[in-house]
Amino acid sequence: MTKIYDKAAKLFEIPEIALPFMHLFLNDEECRMLEVMERRDYSPAELCTVLSDITSAPETFIGKAYSRGVLSKSPHGCETWYAPATFYVRLAFFAQYEPQLWARVPVAERADIDEWYVEQYMNGAKPRLEAALHGDAFIENASFYTLQETLDLIDSFDFEPYVVPCNCKSVAMNCEKPRNVCMLFGRGINSEWDRGHGRALTKDQAKELTRRADRNGLMHTSEKATAVCSCCGCCCYPIRASKRLGAKGVWPMRRYLIHWNANKCVDCGRCVAVCNFGAFQRVDGKIIFDEKACWGCTICSSNCPTGAISTEKIKRDAAPAAL
Ligand code: SF4
Ligand code: SF4
Ligand code: SF4
Repeated sequence: MTKIYDKAAKLFEIPEIALPFMHLFLNDEECRMLEVMERRDYSPAELCTVLSDITSAPETFIGKAYSRGVLSKSPHGCETWYAPATFYVRLAFFAQYEPQLWARVPVAERADIDEWYVEQYMNGAKPRLEAALHGDAFIENASFYTLQETLDLIDSFDFEPYVVPCNCKSVAMNCEKPRNVCMLFGRGINSEWDRGHGRALTKDQAKELTRRADRNGLMHTSEKATAVCSCCGCCCYPIRASKRLGAKGVWPMRRYLIHWNANKCVDCGRCVAVCNFGAFQRVDGKIIFDEKACWGCTICSSNCPTGAISTEKIKRDAAPAAL
């Protein structure tokens, strides 16, 4: 690694485990740009001047670097300026939109980087979760919703969503469940949409995507009109962080109890296939339900063909702040 790359690596906050793969995450020109920019904001004109020694088409270069999550935007009065992003920001875009490069990182090293990422995410989420539970903020993936509630939620929004590849599944790659399922609404600076990603959906398309996700064993989570997520238990960073923080039942907020009526069960195994936490299992050919393992996501109920799994809304004195 050259000196210039060492400096760029430090400025971009690349963890040691990812350094051997730095050439996959950043191209030469981006490394040179990061070195010159240091860690401060630039107006577009100033950045174009800085980049004139690095590229003959600075504006196009800036657009690409922003799209790739190498640069971020920052508001400056009525202007929008640019600042270097960090490896943490870049990693999600890299895995989502350049999966063939991410797959070139060997499995063991990818797992180490994923482990670093989940720790970083968890540390950042902890104060947000505490603030959300005190009603002072909101947290992403605040609550589980039933299939029907999610469809109603989509209908209730004043604006239409766009779909992007799920960043958790793209980074973690722990399962083969559908990835193109993450529905977002934000279109402001630093959103995926503003960076040139995403496919606009009509509400009907969004609802069909949600039904398909449900059939594929993906759980519905959402918060204040910023996203409707379809999550698995093995990749989802909020759920993995929640496990580490001991926040099961609180984040995503559990809103339903699950009741299983063995008399109505025909042993089809759909609940076993969709449950992300092994709460339903087949043992010696028979279905069993372990209530303690259940997170209350409700997708077993929407997938049960005989109505053997029912839900009961949990009554709370006051609605939890995170809802
Ligand atoms: S929160 Fe869920 S849908 Fe959203 S990116 Fe993560 S796993 Fe995907
Ligand atoms: S999905 Fe319903 S019918 Fe099928 S095994 Fe599970 S509880 Fe029984
Ligand atoms: S058993 Fe619990 S965790 Fe598993 S699918 Fe049903 S509601 Fe979700």
